[in-house]
Amino acid sequence: MTRAAVALLLIASMSAGAQVSQQWPQHSMDRPRPPVVKPGAFESAPPPSDAIVLFDGKSLAKWRSSDSTHGPAKWKIVDGAMEVAAGTGGIETRDAFGDCQLHIEWRAPTPAKGEGQERGNSGVFLMGTYEVQVLDSYNNITYADGQAGAVYGQYPPLVNASRPPGDWQSYDIIWHRPHFDAQGRLVSAARVTVFFNGLLAQDNVSLTGPTAHQHRPPYHAHPDALPLGLQDHGNPVRFRNIWIRNLEPGSGKP
Ligand code: MG
Repeated sequence: MTRAAVALLLIASMSAGAQVSQQWPQHSMDRPRPPVVKPGAFESAPPPSDAIVLFDGKSLAKWRSSDSTHGPAKWKIVDGAMEVAAGTGGIETRDAFGDCQLHIEWRAPTPAKGEGQERGNSGVFLMGTYEVQVLDSYNNITYADGQAGAVYGQYPPLVNASRPPGDWQSYDIIWHRPHFDAQGRLVSAARVTVFFNGLLAQDNVSLTGPTAHQHRPPYHAHPDALPLGLQDHGNPVRFRNIWIRNLEPGSGKP
């Protein structure tokens, strides 16, 4: 192949980024897993002044159950963190958000229990619909599109920057919601960028629709702002220092 042909192929493969997830069957164990990269030292910083603090280590007042009752969040508060109370169901914010910047710290249970998807599984659900996977992916093999930092069932993370279970980890997420026209047709897909322990794990990928297990459902029209959800997958994962910045036009950001 000539150099020009190689260059063209490269350009074609880059512009086809939004379709990458379709090249592999969903949850394929053959899909290459990303390189393991040891992140730098963990640093936790207080929220910036324009952030909405969703969890300050003390109170679940900003959260409620995700089920239709929307009763009080039933998760525990342990050592300044919220911990999944297995079987009580997911939780979501009382407020709704569209485009946003989200910071969240999480910790997989120690000692590690279970294998694959059964080890330290939870999830950050943007708009309650689109999951950035939380999983103990430290020396834990699972399908690439289901490991920590994946857009679940769509995009593996670019790196496996996992710290050992029991260590605190962070996601910094930039979210652009999908847009729908008045008839409910998709105008533009949702896009997400994720930093996992400071390393780029998702680079402005376009979601194919809501995330799901063993299928990729199409988009369905929904409001411009929806609650942020956290998943109860039966494992006592902890979260802390959760804050969000509203990036919707008109919210005061340039
Ligand atoms: Mg999950």
